Amino acid sequence: MKPLGPIPPYFETIDGQLAIGGKTASALVKEAGDTPLFVYSKDAILRRITELRDALPDRVRLHYAMKANPYAPLLEFMADHVDGLDIASGGELEQARGAGYLPREISFAGPGKRDRELFAAVRAGVTLNLESEGEGERALDAGKALGIAPRLAIRVNPSFELRGSGMKMGGGAKPFGIDEERVPAFARKLVDAGANWRGFHIYSGSQALDADAIIESQANVLDLAARLGKEAGVPVPHLNMGGGFGIPYFDRDTPLDIAAIGAALKSQFADLPQILSETNFAIELGRYLVGEAGVYLTRILDRKISHGTTYLVTDGGLHHQLAASGNFGTVVRRNYPVAIANHFGAEPAEEVNVVGCLCTPLDRLADQAHLPRADVGDLVAVFCAGAYGASASPATFLGQGAAREMLV
Ligand SMILES: *Cc1c(COP(=O)(O)O)cnc(C)c1O
Repeated sequence: MKPLGPIPPYFETIDGQLAIGGKTASALVKEAGDTPLFVYSKDAILRRITELRDALPDRVRLHYAMKANPYAPLLEFMADHVDGLDIASGGELEQARGAGYLPREISFAGPGKRDRELFAAVRAGVTLNLESEGEGERALDAGKALGIAPRLAIRVNPSFELRGSGMKMGGGAKPFGIDEERVPAFARKLVDAGANWRGFHIYSGSQALDADAIIESQANVLDLAARLGKEAGVPVPHLNMGGGFGIPYFDRDTPLDIAAIGAALKSQFADLPQILSETNFAIELGRYLVGEAGVYLTRILDRKISHGTTYLVTDGGLHHQLAASGNFGTVVRRNYPVAIANHFGAEPAEEVNVVGCLCTPLDRLADQAHLPRADVGDLVAVFCAGAYGASASPATFLGQGAAREMLV
């Protein structure tokens, strides 16, 4: 038997079934028309945002990193509850505009921005987080061509990294950001060239569950931003401090201690260097805001036994849930939280392997899981499906197509 990850605390049981937003899994599937189906809970997202705002100093603005989940109704919903949006492509810029975000609330990071994306961003008045000097020169050229002072910030490649983070995005050679030693000279140059200078973006990793690691990284970010601003002789109007807040996906993962992070930030803010005294601070979060609010529902198509092992074969799989299958940046595959949605809370009765419908051994949703007895027609729920699910999985693989999605 292999353990399952912890089921997030946002769901209830109605008539023996998993319920999301007050509706049972089978009612939701009926309403959507079919499985596979992603359901995202507004209530779970709001509870998460409220907890965060209660813990963090008022001075920190909350940005949503939309790559975690760009589903249009969810994106529109988030617009009413966060203070800014972080995007990473021209396509996301269009989706963000469509969802009603104001350009000055949007910042655009990401290596490899095309000229047409830079032009679109400058024209719209979106802040560009520059990933290289070359990109900065092209952004200045776009500004000149359009007669607009471009809103420019520098994404710094810091020499430190976020300890214990799932995906490292700072420290050493990276395709992201400008190495910290070269930042002061380039910041000076951008200001002298007449850019609308916005400050720094320092992002050092993601999926950290250790509050101390985040506290340490945030202290490093504040020190570095102050030092870079002083060395360059430029103000720091805005500082995007990154994020990296993780969620528990696997057995023995524990939730992040937000209160500790908030308390540490409050004391750091009480004692800021002069150069950061007027700065607007933001943190950018993706999975922490929406990850636990999503459930992926899929139906059992076949129940079979091979060499004594029971397989529940579902109509879903890695084409919607690459991360849960263990193929999105994991070294050792571990089980996400999984349940039989229409026997929610029933006692586990057998050990099964839950697999998807794709013709590849990579398509696994739960290995050696201890679950209640389930048969053809029952619904399997995969939790922690609100981030890096539908949009981060190869939906066209094997001609399967997209999953349905719903915000309730
Ligand atoms: C992906 C990304 C995020 C969001 O990461 P999460 O782990 O989902 O919070 C935030 N900022 C940047 C720059 C990113 O690339």
